[in-house]
Amino acid sequence: KSEIMAMPSWLRRPIAKASELSTVQQIIKQLQIHTICEEGRCPNRGECYAQKTATFLLMGPICTRSCAFCQVDKGHAPMAIDEDEPQKVAEAVKLLGLRYVVLTSVARDDLPDQGAGHFVKTITRIRELNPGVQIEVLTPDLYGDISRIKMIVKTKPACFNHNIETVRRLTNPVRRGAKYDRSLFVLQTVKNIDSTIPTKSGLMLGHGETQDEVIQTMEDLRRVGCDRITLGQYMRPSLEHLPVQKYWTPAEFDEFGAIARKIGFSHVRSAPLVRSSYHAGE
Ligand code: SF4
Ligand code: SF4
Repeated sequence: KSEIMAMPSWLRRPIAKASELSTVQQIIKQLQIHTICEEGRCPNRGECYAQKTATFLLMGPICTRSCAFCQVDKGHAPMAIDEDEPQKVAEAVKLLGLRYVVLTSVARDDLPDQGAGHFVKTITRIRELNPGVQIEVLTPDLYGDISRIKMIVKTKPACFNHNIETVRRLTNPVRRGAKYDRSLFVLQTVKNIDSTIPTKSGLMLGHGETQDEVIQTMEDLRRVGCDRITLGQYMRPSLEHLPVQKYWTPAEFDEFGAIARKIGFSHVRSAPLVRSSYHAGE
């Protein structure tokens, strides 16, 4: 099914106030750092910035993997690590007055520690400059390496998020380079190391998964102790990306949300425009 489906009206959303957006954009640009909010032109920017939340993309915008749904830049050599980035991000957090920060990164399979050390440095520097700020991490799978996961867990983030993104059957076509069980293992490992740290995962729906498969994935996540879940609609970033197979309706998202709560997730966000850091600070 490759025809382009018209985007349903519930996915259109008023854009944020221009003034608010441009202040953030200027600061991000001046410091030469990256955010998912801006890079991904996230539809929730107005809301998140007003709530003093943003998601920083560490270690450059070029990924060493090439998931077919993802709009980050890929397919060429990743950037050298900017050793000043922890400082710059910490300054941006301060300038923007952020209260809840999400740190994420592309997969850096080219680095010996896959970037775990850079996460730790950035978390440390943000905290030094911004006492009281809460930091959530949204990590790549770090190849499921326990020692790398441990480095990050030891910083005691407010939440450890790793997205499983899709159901088992579609992992191969949707997330090239990732493995369904490895993602579960990452979440399980966080809990094994420190059970007090809330864990979170998310799916982007619309790749052709069935309702039963979504429920099965939620159950698999609960089985490894995952506490929080986000479910949102996949929107094709460009014609080079996977086409949308289905637009799940808001009512169907509500139904998934209700099921998620029933099977024990403590925080559930399920709606078409939900992204993995949407309302993260609540
Ligand atoms: Fe940024 Fe996430 Fe909010 Fe989007 S949902 S604006 S990526 S913090
Ligand atoms: Fe995008 Fe992450 Fe896949 Fe890289 S590993 S292409 S950043 S989803």
